Amino acid sequence: MLTSQSSSVAADRQTVLERLNRLIAAVARSNEFQRERLDGVFLDSVDDLRQIRPIDKDDLLRDQQAYPPFGRNLTYAAQQYVHLHQTSGTSGSTLRVLDTDEDWDWWRGCMHDVFAAAGVGPSDLVALAYSFGPYIQFWASYVGAGAVGANRIALGGMDSVQRLETIREYSASALVCTPSYAVRLAKVADQRGLSDALSSVRRIICTGEPGASLPVVRAQIEALWQARCFDHAGLSEVGPFGYPCAEGGGVHVNEREFVVEIVAPGSEDPVAAGEPGELILTAIGRTGFPAIRYRTGDVVECCETPCPAGHTDRWLPGGILGRTDDMAVIRGMNVFPSAIEQVLREFDEIGEFRITYYTEPTAMDEVKVEVELAQPTQGRAIQARLRTRLGLRVRIVPLKPGILPTPSGKTRRVIDMRQVPGRRLAAGRGSG
Ligand SMILES: [Zn+2]
Repeated sequence: MLTSQSSSVAADRQTVLERLNRLIAAVARSNEFQRERLDGVFLDSVDDLRQIRPIDKDDLLRDQQAYPPFGRNLTYAAQQYVHLHQTSGTSGSTLRVLDTDEDWDWWRGCMHDVFAAAGVGPSDLVALAYSFGPYIQFWASYVGAGAVGANRIALGGMDSVQRLETIREYSASALVCTPSYAVRLAKVADQRGLSDALSSVRRIICTGEPGASLPVVRAQIEALWQARCFDHAGLSEVGPFGYPCAEGGGVHVNEREFVVEIVAPGSEDPVAAGEPGELILTAIGRTGFPAIRYRTGDVVECCETPCPAGHTDRWLPGGILGRTDDMAVIRGMNVFPSAIEQVLREFDEIGEFRITYYTEPTAMDEVKVEVELAQPTQGRAIQARLRTRLGLRVRIVPLKPGILPTPSGKTRRVIDMRQVPGRRLAAGRGSG
């Protein structure tokens, strides 16, 4: 058994290597942005990828600013591209991402694996609770659900009540949305007497926030909807790289289509097993707008123990823990917003929250969490539990419900006001 398994892994490695060399050759030939990094590169092993200098979103943004609107990260002539999406970048700038027909087929294949792993198939009707727009998530989910043979209803352009009525009318069996929206929609159903609209939904497939891989948030969604909740992960400029593990929770990186590295932030040094690090990905099957050794800014923690289902792809039980930008080292401890959220959600009647890192006049860095509480007295209990769980003093500021903005899309819940932001993440001292 062992021999046949390792020889099939070796064969997969060989296939990956051949595909990578074909990708690099095609990109180096005609992609001006990538040529400087890739010219003359030939890999003798997949590990040789590490010879190539990584790039990140800021590199792509700078290139698009210098060569507007699409930049030079294009392997083909403009007329070969048939999909144009946008993603928000730092400081409000917009990154444009283009796909050819062939690359979009690759997206579809990767999204097929997401929906298949969540158990969605031809007997399902999938309701997609995303607004229409230039963001890729709706369009990718739409083709992915179609790829497993499911029927689909788009709920863009509807308010929450209309969405619930539509789910009820068609007895939709699966819902695709962000985790915070899954919670919100269930609450709207309760407030508006539409709870029966939830009963046909068996599966909720989430992305866009860490929530669906946080055990407490997942349990909350599953209890509200009486349905299974799954996470998945992707980025417009990279591709849909993570599919859910139905048995173990969290996500696996799709290693047939992505080469994975997990490195200490700000370096290219691989982190030890079980330590948090930044995900660097290479999309093996995307040629038109390639992502080769791309620093995602996503922080993950890989589990070396096999998942209970025995999947061989790298397992991230916590999903995406957060963005490198949102993490901070406060008095020597890594602070993960997702770890704070996990503790907050253990309390009942928690509304929205906002995390602020700031510097006291004493020059000490501190963490403040503004949180909407039905009972302001809960603040003290939350503070105590955060202290026990994270080993860190966190100031809780209770707010009345409804003060903080209601989440939509990728909600940003972290503000960094420290005088010296300093290193974002310290290796090996995670609190999440
Ligand atoms: Zn698994």
